Amino acid sequence: MTAQVLNGGEVAEKIKQGVASRVRELEQRGIKPGLAAVIVGDDPASKVYVGSKVKTCQALGLSSEKFELPATTTTEQLEALVDELNRRDEIDGILVQLPLPSQIETRRILEAVDPAKDVDGFHAVNVGHLVRGEETLVACTPAGIIELLDHYQIPIAGAHAVVVGRSDIVGKPMSLLLLHRNATVTICHSRTRDLPAITRQADILIAAIGRTAMITGDFVREGAVVVDVGMNKATTREEIERIFAEADRPKRMEDLNKRGYTLVGDVEPRTVIGKASWFTPVPGGVGPLTIAMLMKNTLRAAESRKGEKKG
Ligand code: NDP
Repeated sequence: MTAQVLNGGEVAEKIKQGVASRVRELEQRGIKPGLAAVIVGDDPASKVYVGSKVKTCQALGLSSEKFELPATTTTEQLEALVDELNRRDEIDGILVQLPLPSQIETRRILEAVDPAKDVDGFHAVNVGHLVRGEETLVACTPAGIIELLDHYQIPIAGAHAVVVGRSDIVGKPMSLLLLHRNATVTICHSRTRDLPAITRQADILIAAIGRTAMITGDFVREGAVVVDVGMNKATTREEIERIFAEADRPKRMEDLNKRGYTLVGDVEPRTVIGKASWFTPVPGGVGPLTIAMLMKNTLRAAESRKGEKKG
């Protein structure tokens, strides 16, 4: 069996087009959804993420403002900015890019964001709604994965879904969303005993670990749907030869020569593609969905704050 591709790029495009067309409708009524993106410090990866979130807002007709604070910012200073953004009516979504510098109390900042503007879905109020299966703003990456599975009509109800990873931003919300869609969910983590024996039971396997190509073919049941959330870097020719089938290596070697790395997930394509029925590539799988869902959440926040319900 050769797995078919779950094309996250394509699904993300569809989601973004839907957002753009709804934004045009709202514009007729004088409503323009607005996102505030806050970044603290000089982490290059965070800068790239925030840059592309702001650019996507512009492309879809949402307004956006970027706030760049120095690495020495205190919890109180950042909280003061969040308070100000909470009060500004034209701001519908507030995004505080993580990770924050170590002197800042991340949890306190996430809890300072008005839950109605919490487009990342990290506030305890929104997490609570998610636990109870109520309509709420949900973390973008797992929400995007559900859209992806739905787009390809992958049956979720009754399936055994195994989620590897239990972080607050991916693993836990992912597990809850799958549970609410009536999957039988198993959550695994670094203390799980005999991980491959469990992942081999999965009809749907979600890898959200942050370990380069850890999920090899031995972890995957024949015919499983494999979703790879991981974003890691392979930096040597040896790694590329281990992780990728021969046909994929030239492009990967080109990346390596150009940038010093190639982007790799938590799943090893060389051994998994021959076993899975569907899989998400890295890049081009889960990554693009995260930004698309952030746009959708900002739109939803604007609609519910301004009393607009999709008709
Ligand atoms: P975290 O580091 O917060 O969580 C990783 C999870 O994996 C933890 O629950 C950890 O277990 C578990 N884990 C670590 N090692 C093992 C192991 N050997 N066996 C089993 N479980 C293990 O990461 P995130 O959830 O934030 O992100 C996961 C990956 O997804 C990263 O590569 C990240 O870059 C990527 N990511 C991609 C996004 C996208 O848009 N594509 C968005 C967000 C994240 P324990 O709890 O026991 O420590």
